[in-house]
Amino acid sequence: MRHIYNFSAGPAALPKSVMLRAQAEMIDWHGTGISVMEMSHRGKHYMSIFEKVESDFRSLFNVPKNYKVLFLQGGAIAQNSMVPLNLLNGKQANYVVSGYWSKRSYQDALPFGNINIAASSEVIAFRKVPDPNEWKIDPSSSYVHFCSNETIHGVEYFDIPPIKTIPMVVDMSSHILSRPVDVSQFGVIYAGAQKNIGPAGLTIVIVRDDLLGVASPLTPSIFNWKIQAENQSMINTPTTYSIYMAGLVFEWLIDSGGLKVIENQNIKKAELLYNYIDSTDFYSNTIDLHNRSRMNVPFHIQNEDLHASFVTGTENLGMIGLKGHRLVGGIRASIYNAMPIEGIHALVEYMKDFEKSH
Ligand SMILES: *Cc1c(COP(=O)(O)O)cnc(C)c1O
Repeated sequence: MRHIYNFSAGPAALPKSVMLRAQAEMIDWHGTGISVMEMSHRGKHYMSIFEKVESDFRSLFNVPKNYKVLFLQGGAIAQNSMVPLNLLNGKQANYVVSGYWSKRSYQDALPFGNINIAASSEVIAFRKVPDPNEWKIDPSSSYVHFCSNETIHGVEYFDIPPIKTIPMVVDMSSHILSRPVDVSQFGVIYAGAQKNIGPAGLTIVIVRDDLLGVASPLTPSIFNWKIQAENQSMINTPTTYSIYMAGLVFEWLIDSGGLKVIENQNIKKAELLYNYIDSTDFYSNTIDLHNRSRMNVPFHIQNEDLHASFVTGTENLGMIGLKGHRLVGGIRASIYNAMPIEGIHALVEYMKDFEKSH
């Protein structure tokens, strides 16, 4: 099999050892004679998998007891509607716009009620996140929403915003599990799985107990966090196989030493790439140094005409998924947990060669 480094923003690379384990267990899970895909979600085998997935996730991400962990569907985008349905409660909500995804969350929330922008960095092309000390928060709002890692624009929050008056709701889709997080500072955390958790189809929602129970009466049961929490996320058939795969990723992270260890690796990987970009005028990344994402690194070649041949050259060497998002152009390297440091070395070597020959 050809060796590939997958720099795709999502669905993204999964750890090789996780894929091998899934392959080994694929058609006969633990001597049951059937695949996880074929199991009843309420049967004892699947329930044992499901319960371990939840408890591993709780210990890995250090989720306090007073939070529910939900395993839902519909992607992070479904939460753009579920958040206002479950939380707005006839009040207003504040939205921070720091890039494509948080802007989309804001736009998706508009039909649900009184939705206001707390801060926006759009005028500076999202090169820096809006300073949380300057967010306009109304203390009577039901929540403030933001996105802590903007996958397309490549900006990340490293400090937890000091908002104490109202619950913070955060989209962590593209950097959850990349480092430890103090979950207790948030009201709701959600993430689509296909960046740093597992295969697409699963969305994890972590919600503080006291925020359950104020959903709009129009909320469909499938979108109601409280009803889902009371039914172990199984008011209908959950994404059984994606949840199982996510569980293998959690075990891999636990066996690798946990989130502090993976954070150190992620810091080294990102530094390697940014240091090289900064060392030459040929390539550039214009994100504020304090907000440069460790997961998604967009960059440009000074001569815009070279982007296409840069990408073709990477593909010839087995490095895929590097074409920048159409909104931003250029190149984007997504370097989630599953990207080994060897992949960054290979990319940087290629970047040096490309620069020399152009
Ligand atoms: C990918 C992504 C989304 C969209 O996720 P879906 O699972 O496709 O709905 C939303 N927010 C962020 C930050 C993302 O990276």
